[in-house]
Amino acid sequence: MAVRFISPYRAPMATIHWFRRDLRLSDNPALLAAIAEAATASDPRVVPLFILDPAQFAQLGAVRGAYLIRSLNELGKSLDRNLLIRHGDPKQVLPEVIAAATASSVHIAAAFEPELAKLDQEIENLISVPLVRTGSAYAISPGRVNKDDGTPYRVFTPFYRSWAAHGWRLPAAKPEFANWWMPLQCHGRPAEPELGDLVLPTAGEQAALARWETFQATALKDYAEDRNRSDLINGTSKMSIPLRFGEIHPRTILKDLKETDEVYKKEICWREFYADVLHHNPHTSTENLNKQYDQMPWERGKTADENFAAWCQGKTGFPFVDAGMRQLMAEGWMHNRVRMVVASFLIKDLHIDWRRGADWFMQWLADGDIASNQHGWQWTAGSGTDASPFYRVFNPITQGLKFDPNGDYVRKYIAELAHLPANTAHEPWKTPAGYQNGYPQPIVDHAVERIRALADYEKIKKN
Ligand SMILES: Cc1cc2nc3c(=O)[nH]c(=O)nc-3n(C[C@H](O)[C@H](O)[C@H](O)COP(=O)(O)OP(=O)(O)OC[C@H]3O[C@@H](n4cnc5c(N)ncnc54)[C@H](O)[C@@H]3O)c2cc1C
Repeated sequence: MAVRFISPYRAPMATIHWFRRDLRLSDNPALLAAIAEAATASDPRVVPLFILDPAQFAQLGAVRGAYLIRSLNELGKSLDRNLLIRHGDPKQVLPEVIAAATASSVHIAAAFEPELAKLDQEIENLISVPLVRTGSAYAISPGRVNKDDGTPYRVFTPFYRSWAAHGWRLPAAKPEFANWWMPLQCHGRPAEPELGDLVLPTAGEQAALARWETFQATALKDYAEDRNRSDLINGTSKMSIPLRFGEIHPRTILKDLKETDEVYKKEICWREFYADVLHHNPHTSTENLNKQYDQMPWERGKTADENFAAWCQGKTGFPFVDAGMRQLMAEGWMHNRVRMVVASFLIKDLHIDWRRGADWFMQWLADGDIASNQHGWQWTAGSGTDASPFYRVFNPITQGLKFDPNGDYVRKYIAELAHLPANTAHEPWKTPAGYQNGYPQPIVDHAVERIRALADYEKIKKN
């Protein structure tokens, strides 16, 4: 990208594009708005800014923290190393950058996560120039798809119909020219948190676009059939991490879908639905949407803590559950089908509050997103919108046999079971060699715990 020389002696007047969860140049309407506004000035400079708030960074955890740093590196490269990274509280940093650039405005993509939306509001009241919101991380921003009477949807299928009928714009173009400018010293990227053996996919916009191209060319046509197969490496698109960091916009994905790709389109819509639900019900990032479930008698105390630790470490003695939990720690990602099974196991076999599981997921998931995660958990717990009925208790063994029919997924993540052939890896108790490598015995009896879960559910239903 060409960069024009600007004399340091001219009075500067710039716009700022504040990157947050939109770490890309293509299809970034807020960035284009910053460039377009700057173009009307005699000195059309744009400050591409990222504010690294130590408090927010710590909250991300090691996995998303490391991915963010790699993604910032890629974004910096695509800006010819002109990304201004400043460390500190945005409420302090942003006014400093505005003053240094004598900026006329700050451009952002609107945030809808309750905490971030609140921060934007505070910042808007604090700064001396307009905070201009253009677009968001969604094809249709939360709050815009409503029922005919104006109230929000609480059930997915009608939301999906309205969302699809509403439609969205085509992706925005990549900026052709901009005069990037760093009016202050760049603080640079902090050191990456230690990840041990965990291997993340390549970060950045180019990698995201390439992955999307490959998925379309090789696996999209079989998605409806393969998406539940945890053993297939390309059964799903793995776009959740790039979507989480805004390395790709959902519109860029949606524009490539054909009529035959409706199953995939619906999955993209689940992400939008949950963002909409959270927007209308901000308390559901920590609380049940359905208050009836506040009465659920969760297990607490020593045994519950030991069971929770076994679940976290992938040592429950249920191979499909343990493979999922170990995939999470090995890759910072878990297959959707397995997420549902491990969540069901924690809630309905161990009777542990879904919030403990959701927190663990948020600690480890590279795609960790409050809306999709908390509502994915509440779907399983039965306490959310459109929830899976509580009485539908996943059987962790038959789920494994069905969605990992040859046992490849289990063998890949559980070294202690790697010697067991075919689907015997799902049932080590059926073979004399099952426990020879130290794999743990099941910590509970699924048949017994299922009955207990159903009884708990009956009690809260009566209340
Ligand atoms: C308990 C639980 C927790 C979850 N936590 C998260 C989370 O923190 N972040 C997250 O992005 N997804 C979460 N999901 C949803 C889903 O598991 C992931 O989006 C999916 O596994 C990502 O893999 P993929 O990109 O290959 O998905 P694909 O099957 O290729 O789907 C394409 C895209 O559609 C979206 N999508 C698909 N399924 C869902 C869904 N059920 N809910 C919301 N969006 C969906 C994602 O953006 C995904 O990238 C959770 C699901 C459950 C059951």
